[in-house]
Amino acid sequence: FDINMEQLQLNEELGKGNYGTVKKVLHKPTNVAMAMKEIRLELDDAKLNAIIMELDILHRAVAPEIVEFYGAFFIESCVYYCMEYMDAGSLDKLLAAGVPEDVLARIAGCMVRGLKFLKDELQIIHRDVKPTNVLVNKKGEIKLCDFGVSGQLEKSLAKTNIGCQSYMAPERIKGESQNNLGTYTISSDVWSLGLSMIEIGLGKYPYPPETYSNVFAQLTAIVHGDPPSLPEDNYSPEARDWVAQCLVKAPDGRATYQQLLDHPFLQQDKKRKVDMVSWVERALEVRAEQLAEALQAQTPRSV
Ligand code: ADP
Repeated sequence: FDINMEQLQLNEELGKGNYGTVKKVLHKPTNVAMAMKEIRLELDDAKLNAIIMELDILHRAVAPEIVEFYGAFFIESCVYYCMEYMDAGSLDKLLAAGVPEDVLARIAGCMVRGLKFLKDELQIIHRDVKPTNVLVNKKGEIKLCDFGVSGQLEKSLAKTNIGCQSYMAPERIKGESQNNLGTYTISSDVWSLGLSMIEIGLGKYPYPPETYSNVFAQLTAIVHGDPPSLPEDNYSPEARDWVAQCLVKAPDGRATYQQLLDHPFLQQDKKRKVDMVSWVERALEVRAEQLAEALQAQTPRSV
C-alpha cells in the first residue's frame, strides 16, 4: 500500500545526514514506528515522480540484513523515504566500547550476506558501504541502508565534496570508473567493506585527518600507501586475513562475496553463539556516557 504524510505522526529527529534529516515517525494506520528521511531536491515533478518509481524496487529488497523499505512520496521539492526504525542507530556511533572478534565476525557476516543479496537478487551495487550506513537495533540485528537504487536520485544528490572520510576504492579515487556510475564494479564495494571492518576494529577511521594535512594527502595515502590492517593484539590471523582479502589494491585481486563467506573467519562465526544483544546494550551505555560528558563540558556551571 502507499504511504502518505497524512498517515504519519512526526516525532523526534534521529539524525542529520549529508542530504537531509531523519525523523522518527509513527504510521498511524498500522501503529508501526518508522524512520523517515527527508531529502530536498530542486527538481520538477516529473523527475521527482521518476525517483519515486525507481525507489519502488526497494519493496523487493526484503532480507534479514537489509533495512526494510516501507514507501516513498514527495511533497513540493522534498522526497520522503520511510524505512524500518532501527533503535540503536548507526554502527559508527557504537564503536567506542570496542568490538570483540566474535562481534566483528557477526557484523562482517551480516554485511556480506546483505551485499550479496542485493547483487544476486536485485543486481544492485551498494556504492556507499561505510559504518554510518549500517544500522543496528536492540535485538542485535545489523542491517544495511542507503544503497544506490535510483539513478535519478544519485544524479541529483550532487556529490560536491567527498568529505573527510573516504571509503572509496583506490581505482575509484584514481578516476578509472568515477565518471560513470555504470562502471562501478562490485569489487569497489568489497574495498569499502574492508575499510569499514578496519574502522569497526580500530574504533576510528584508519586515515585520520590528524595524520593527513588535507584530503589530497589522505587520498594519496589510500591510492599509493599500503592498505591498513586490523591490529594484531586484538584480532586473530583469520580475522586479519579476511580483511586483507578485501583491501587488495588491485580490484581483480579482491575476494568475492562467496569467498568471503567461505573463509574460516565467517565459517567460525556460523558455528558460534554471539551475544549481540548485550554488546549493543553496552555500546549504547558507553555512547550515552560520552554524550553526557560532552554536554557537561559544554554547559557553563550556574552560580
Ligand atoms: P548519511 O547521509 O550520513 O548517510 P542519513 O541521512 O542516512 O546519514 O542518516 C542520518 C542519521 O540518522 C544516521 O546517522 C542515523 O543515526 C539516523 N538514522 C538514519 N536512518 C535511520 C533508521 N532507519 N533508524 C534509526 N536511525 C536512523
